[in-house]
Amino acid sequence: MNGSYSFRTRMILTFWIMLLAALLLPPWYYFRSLASQVLEESRENAIQQLDFVQWTLHREKQIPSAEDLNRLLVEIGDKLSVRLSYIAEGGKVIADSQVPFSEIPNLENHAARPEIIQSLSQEIGSSLRFSGTAGRDLMYMARRITGIAGIPPGVLRVAAPLSKMKEPVDRLKVSFLIFLGIFFIAIAAISYLLIRRLNNPIRALIETAEAISSRDYARRIRISPGHEFHPLTQAINRMADSIQVQIKTVTEQKQELEAVFNAMQECVMVLDSGGRIIRVNQTFARLSSGDDVIGRRPLEVISNPELQKISDDTIKATAGDTLAQPHNFQIVLGDERTYDVNIVGLPDQKKGRGAVAVFHEITELKRLEKVRQDFVANVSHELRTPLTSIKGYTETLLSEKKPDRETSQAFLQVILKNTNHMVKMVEDLLQLARLEAHQLPSKLISVNAASALLTAWRSCRHHAEGKNIQLESLLPPDGVLVSADFDQLVQVFRNLLENSIRYSPSDHPITAFCTLGSGEVTFAIRDEGPGISKKHHQRIFERFYRVEKHRGDQGGSTGLGLAICRHILLHHNGRIWVQSPNEGSTKGATFFFTLKKAPASSVTQSHS
Ligand code: ADP
Repeated sequence: MNGSYSFRTRMILTFWIMLLAALLLPPWYYFRSLASQVLEESRENAIQQLDFVQWTLHREKQIPSAEDLNRLLVEIGDKLSVRLSYIAEGGKVIADSQVPFSEIPNLENHAARPEIIQSLSQEIGSSLRFSGTAGRDLMYMARRITGIAGIPPGVLRVAAPLSKMKEPVDRLKVSFLIFLGIFFIAIAAISYLLIRRLNNPIRALIETAEAISSRDYARRIRISPGHEFHPLTQAINRMADSIQVQIKTVTEQKQELEAVFNAMQECVMVLDSGGRIIRVNQTFARLSSGDDVIGRRPLEVISNPELQKISDDTIKATAGDTLAQPHNFQIVLGDERTYDVNIVGLPDQKKGRGAVAVFHEITELKRLEKVRQDFVANVSHELRTPLTSIKGYTETLLSEKKPDRETSQAFLQVILKNTNHMVKMVEDLLQLARLEAHQLPSKLISVNAASALLTAWRSCRHHAEGKNIQLESLLPPDGVLVSADFDQLVQVFRNLLENSIRYSPSDHPITAFCTLGSGEVTFAIRDEGPGISKKHHQRIFERFYRVEKHRGDQGGSTGLGLAICRHILLHHNGRIWVQSPNEGSTKGATFFFTLKKAPASSVTQSHS
């Protein structure tokens, strides 16, 4: 019953059974005893009537015929308001007070009637049954009679209606049943209303408890169905309070971790025990091609078989409570980015063990390492030639068979030239290093670029004079104001002019010009030299990159000049590029660079 019926149904059923028992049992008992009393009284009445009829018949001396007997029974029966019958021993009816004498022979044999059978064996017999003739219940009482007034032996029977009590009792029964019916309907209605009144708060209580269990932790039970429920409602409310606090704490911690997880520079991928991705951080998008990575295997997202294999191995090795040793390896992805990968086994609460992989990008580190290696190799290579030369000439000068004075002078000149070259290279390298390390802050003020060009030309003019090279400046006569560091701008012009002088044929001028754009000025230094083929245009701005191998030795070249220019212009938010051959020509090179125009109201620094 516990399982199949609700608490409410059980309560209602119990209540109704008790109510029915309380209401029906006493009246039932009462009516039962009334009925047996009515029966007893009817029985006694019938016996008394039988006694009376018998006594009356005894007073008759002789009843000559059946018809006389019948008449007598009719008379007595009328007086007593009962039906009287006389039945012969074989069951044949001889006289009946309520049946015309002529029809008596037609009456059926009464031998089988229970009161007749009983009276024949026990002198007196009775039976209560419905009489078709009277249309109601009658008490039949029969007594065996022998030798009265010459009547043949037989059974005298009286059929009397039940006691007068019977009808009022029956009416009372009906009224009682009607009252009971009305009472039950009223009780049913009242109990329905009561249950509803109790039911609503209980339902509200259940709904609130369900809402809390469905994560609506702000819900509370406000109305209690009754004071017996207070401990329950208070317990549920307290539970909701504590869950709310805990959820808040957990949510905050989760959000913090989420923020950390997503803010991490490293890409993170979490795998379940089946080797499928269950979580990634936002940075991970850099590694994967598609958005939908959850549920996929690492190989489907990052095409690197080694990663897949190590992930699988880590998950397999993570057995029981012991975590496998972390694996560390490097992978290079399609776009040439290098990652340092750490995979470690991870307990996965739901499905056993998983793994977490952290990808740390080391592309820049690798590049810097390579730059450093290249740099060392380049510097060693660049220094080796002049050093070898200096060593060779110095050894010759110190040898026993000393060269003559003139040759010695020439040797010393070579040594000096190589030494100067090395000094210049070291100076250039130092300047480049300072520029890269931002140790040379560019003081950006309004300067006259024409003045910087002139200063630069003066410092390298002696090289030009030897080749009869002139500078043709097409810069505006009243100067060009730009936002720059004067010394660094001089250096850019000087490096470009030195290159132009170096590569220009004799007697060909170098031209400097500029174009004014909106917000910036583009400067150009043009020469008529051999020019630079297109494939070198990008690379000549790299350190130590030279095209000279195709052109033979160009004295004083360190391969660092343009790299310095590029760095200085980077500090000025400018650009530098080369065009070669010159416009409308098959040779020559023009170097362009841009600088920001000086703000109109700024102070101008100018050198003459
Ligand atoms: P360098 O000290 O050797 O001149 P740069 O960095 O200034 O170094 O130049 C890099 C290379 O670019 C040079 O070695 C040369 O091959 C090429 N180059 C630079 N300027 C010119 C120019 N005006 N004409 C032809 N080639 C040039």
